[in-house]
Amino acid sequence: MALYTNGELIDRLAEAHFLKKEEYLQLLRHMTDQEREMLQEKARRVRESHYGKKVFIRGLIEFTNYCKNNCLYCGIRRDNANVMRYRLTEEEILLCVEEGYGLGFRTFVLQGGEDGFFTAEKLGRLILEIKARHGDCAVTLSVGEHPREVYRYWHDCGADRYLLRHETASRDHYEMLHPRQMCFSRRMECLYDLKEIGYQVGAGFMVGSPGQTLECIGEDLVFLKELDPHMVGIGPFIPQRDTPLGDRPAGTLDQTLVLLSLIRLMLPKVLLPATTALGTIHPRGRELGILAGANVVMPNLSPVSVRDQYRLYDNKICTGEESAQCRECLNARMESIGYQVVAERGDYAGFSSER
Ligand code: SAH
Repeated sequence: MALYTNGELIDRLAEAHFLKKEEYLQLLRHMTDQEREMLQEKARRVRESHYGKKVFIRGLIEFTNYCKNNCLYCGIRRDNANVMRYRLTEEEILLCVEEGYGLGFRTFVLQGGEDGFFTAEKLGRLILEIKARHGDCAVTLSVGEHPREVYRYWHDCGADRYLLRHETASRDHYEMLHPRQMCFSRRMECLYDLKEIGYQVGAGFMVGSPGQTLECIGEDLVFLKELDPHMVGIGPFIPQRDTPLGDRPAGTLDQTLVLLSLIRLMLPKVLLPATTALGTIHPRGRELGILAGANVVMPNLSPVSVRDQYRLYDNKICTGEESAQCRECLNARMESIGYQVVAERGDYAGFSSER
């Protein structure tokens, strides 16, 4: 017999912003439709108390698909010989930024594999240039694990935020998803380094990744509460056929939505994207994500000519559309559910961008 009903747990999470691991597990094991509805409604209410009906947009620039790592789930892993590798030039990246700026983007996310070609200095120069041209914009990096001094240097150059999903808070599960050369503790250490340096930091994990148990998800939630990041990126795992995990089933819409709501209640002000992966497993996945408590979407600004090559997983949406089309489509999608895309930096509520 459970000590508390699901309804009681949800109420308590909404008030105290945390539960014990066992209590998360109870909610994850079973919820009635009515309980799910109540959870979503509470999450939406919290989201709206901090961010209203605003949806923040981030222009994602996937600037290289070269990667020295070999994560078992990822389509751009080193050993995937079926990828046409590309790198954008500095000019191309800046063109994406210009186009995005014109479309109302005030945050640019530079994401890529861990590509030694982009040295600390090269990326630093790029950050400086973007900030010099657009002092009103935030620059977010998502380029994996680097030494603390490099993180500090990029922050000094003007980078504001850093996305580094922890991928899983269970060491055993981490070691199942990654080759031996990659180290669980190192990834965790990076997150704490980034926070200490002063970035707005994003962690996160894939929902339904191979080998993930409810116990793993419980550990993810407890870890997220402890890290207390500014952003949390979660989306369903989706198999990519050229990877060792290419025949595994994808994560589900329902579980992702429940987790978005739980995370919203746990970290009330968190910047929480309705991810492209969520939009890939369901035609209205991103809208449903927003309705479950998310407040960010991250459309692609990469040149259409390379979009198809940044294939972390199969069937990724929006690879054929121009940035302007994506922007309009998102506007319409968000308006259809009563929300509004805004042309703002979209910082963590209460975070000062002064340095
Ligand atoms: N190299 C960077 C960026 C990684 S790609 C880094 O190490 O942080 C961004 C995210 O995509 C990853 O953190 C991972 O959680 C997600 N991802 C990778 N492969 C995926 C797949 N097959 N399905 C869903 N998400 C995936």
